[in-house]
Amino acid sequence: MQFKSLPQLLDYFKEESTCIEYYENLRWGNEPACPHCGCVTVHRTQRGWRCSTKGCGKKFTVRTGTIFEQSNIKFRIWFAAIWLATEHKKGISSVQLGIDLGITQKTAWFVLHRIREMLKEKAPQMLGEDKMVETDATYIGGKERNKHLNKRRSHDDKSLTNEGKPFKAKKTIIGIIERNGKVALRYVSGETTQNMVSFVETHVPQDSTIYSDEAPAYKQLKRTYKHDNVKHALNIYVEGQVHTNTIENFWSVLKRGLYGVYHQVSDKHISRYLDEYAARFNNRSKTSNERFNLFLEGSESVLSYKALIVNK
Ligand SMILES: [Zn+2]
Repeated sequence: MQFKSLPQLLDYFKEESTCIEYYENLRWGNEPACPHCGCVTVHRTQRGWRCSTKGCGKKFTVRTGTIFEQSNIKFRIWFAAIWLATEHKKGISSVQLGIDLGITQKTAWFVLHRIREMLKEKAPQMLGEDKMVETDATYIGGKERNKHLNKRRSHDDKSLTNEGKPFKAKKTIIGIIERNGKVALRYVSGETTQNMVSFVETHVPQDSTIYSDEAPAYKQLKRTYKHDNVKHALNIYVEGQVHTNTIENFWSVLKRGLYGVYHQVSDKHISRYLDEYAARFNNRSKTSNERFNLFLEGSESVLSYKALIVNK
C-alpha cells in the first residue's frame, strides 16, 4: 500500500482493524513478541494478545509499550496526526491539530509530544560521510534574541531587565550539519568548550574537517579534527569551502517554526522540538510514505502524560 496524501491515508485506514493489522505487521512482522518479557510464545485473545510464558502470562495489545499506549484515540486519528506533524515543514501547533482532527487541544498537545518521542533518534548518529561538517550555536527565545552575541547576557544572569521584569535567558542550541545531509541538535546551558567538544565527539568521526565561526570553544577541537573558521569579525562569511551557510539556513527554518508555529517553547520541552525538526530535516529526501513507515517503526516507547506535565 502506498499513500501519497492525507485523504489516501485516511481512506486506507478507515477501519481500526486495518490499522491494527498494519501496525502489528510493522512492529512484529510474523513474530509477535510479548512487550513485558520479550518472548514470542504468545497467542491471540479476543481483544489482543496474551503471553504464554510461565511466570509472565500477561495480556497486551500492539499498543503496549508504544507511544499509543493508554490512549483512547483511534489509530486512524493517530496516523493522521503523525502525517500532519511530519509533513508540515515547520510543524503544526496543538491548537491547529486539534481543529484539524476534531480532538481537544489538550489531547492534541499530548499526541504531538508522543509523536516527538517517536521521532527522537534512538542512538547518536555519526555525521560527516563526506568528511566535512559545519557546526554552530544559535539562541532561541528571550528578549535578547535580536541582540548581538557579545551584548547578550549569560544564561544564569538573575538580574532584572530594563523594564524591571526578571531577565529571561535565551536558550542555546548547538548543531552539527552535513552539507547535503543530516543535522544533529542539542540544547545546552551555553556555547561552552565542554558542551561543544562532547557534542562534536559524539557525532563526528575524527578525521573530518569542521567549519565554524570564530567562537573560542572550537579551539580545543583542533586537537582531534581539521578545523577552519569564517571570520565574521572581518565580515568574511565565505572563503571557498569555508562557510557555515548550511547550518545558518537550517537555523532560519528552525526559528521560523519555533516562533511562528509554537510561539513559546519551555526549557523542559525544547529538546523534544529539536527532535521533531531534526527528524523531518534528516528524512526530507524520502517519500511521504517512506517517512511515515520509518517514523512509525520508532514508536516503541512510552511517554506518560504525568512525565510531560511535571515542571511544565
Ligand atoms: Zn510475557
